[in-house]
Amino acid sequence: MTRKSIHIIGGGVAGLGLAWRLAQAGRRAIVFDKGAIGRSASWAAAGMLAAVIEAEPGEDALIPFVLESQSMWPEFAKELQAYTGLDVGYRETGTLFVAAERDDEGLLKQRFDFLKARSLPVEWLERSELRKREPYFSPRVTHGFYSAGDHQVDNRALVDALHAACKKAGVELHANADVSEIKISNGQATHIVINDGIIAVENLVLAAGAWSGSIKGVPLEALPPVFPMKGQLVAMQMDVYQPLLKHVVWTPQIYMVPRSDGRLIVGATLEDKGFDASLTAGGILHLLRKTWEALPGMEELPLLETWAGFRPTSRDDAPILGESAIKNLSFMTGQHRHGILMTPLLAAAMSEYIIKGKLPEIAAPFTMQRFK
Ligand SMILES: Cc1cc2nc3c(=O)[nH]c(=O)nc-3n(C[C@H](O)[C@H](O)[C@H](O)COP(=O)(O)OP(=O)(O)OC[C@H]3O[C@@H](n4cnc5c(N)ncnc54)[C@H](O)[C@@H]3O)c2cc1C
Repeated sequence: MTRKSIHIIGGGVAGLGLAWRLAQAGRRAIVFDKGAIGRSASWAAAGMLAAVIEAEPGEDALIPFVLESQSMWPEFAKELQAYTGLDVGYRETGTLFVAAERDDEGLLKQRFDFLKARSLPVEWLERSELRKREPYFSPRVTHGFYSAGDHQVDNRALVDALHAACKKAGVELHANADVSEIKISNGQATHIVINDGIIAVENLVLAAGAWSGSIKGVPLEALPPVFPMKGQLVAMQMDVYQPLLKHVVWTPQIYMVPRSDGRLIVGATLEDKGFDASLTAGGILHLLRKTWEALPGMEELPLLETWAGFRPTSRDDAPILGESAIKNLSFMTGQHRHGILMTPLLAAAMSEYIIKGKLPEIAAPFTMQRFK
């Protein structure tokens, strides 16, 4: 008996997570990536698992979804680690949201009140308590609150671990395999064009991140409304034994993510500039200036890296999952700023969809139907 194959376009955390789960369930999963595996948004991200602190008004379906994925993380990290022997840098640091200038205090209070009104678990902290938790904060940092459940993972380590898990589970992985077109006949995806070749497909998943909305061959009205939202980031090196920061920290303008190896990741700009990946003086200046205002000791830190990436952003900032208007073609895209956080749940939900033909209840609001 031949196994039905699932072809996945995109080898980021979405495509890899799905392929791993499918292979574990005995399915033949084949992943194509136009570049190296997992070197796009999944590599560029900051790795925050910030379901609470990033909750926004109007995200009624999204909030339970990201909270559910957040709750899956401890077990997911453990399983991936046991399966591959690779540490994904999952750290239960918690997250602080602070005001580093007077103008920010109103924004901070507004945010706290919004989260409290949604019964999300946040705790207001007095200045002395803030200082106890983060002694290197500037004296300007006077107000803040704490989200005990928002943690972090090292997203680059996650990519490497998912890549290794896929290999071990027998997923066929093709790097530098640019899917230049999906061939459609009688409303059904039949083939994909890769580099100069063409192959038949029976079950195709589009998990191409920010590029999902512009794949050739799919009629315009059937494409997922996904576009790139650029973010610039910068990394510095802290002293591993005496880091300047221990928690993930947000201000209304930036976030700072301290890794266990002493890297301090600071992000991110939010720019609607198409696929322009250039770093700008203004973007980097903004990140460094706002870091310095909260954490003046950063002046002495060696600069490690600057980079930019593209969030796969949908029209309503929520993921687009499951069936499309094209038979045999399903979508797994549109995660915007939460794609790392969503990895465990997306992999579970989409593998269930592929295997059983139905998304679980919690993922049901996120089909293309909502844009009709
Ligand atoms: C600056 C920044 C900061 C972020 N911070 C966080 C964070 O802290 N927490 C969080 O949860 N999320 C964060 N995100 C969001 C998160 O990174 C993404 O939502 C997630 O990585 C998307 O995963 P993906 O696999 O769908 O996309 P990607 O990782 O972009 O992978 C898609 C892959 O598809 C490939 N591809 C595209 N077109 C084709 C084609 N035609 N043929 C073959 N391959 C193709 C690409 O090469 C790419 O490797 C951040 C993103 C950015 C940019």
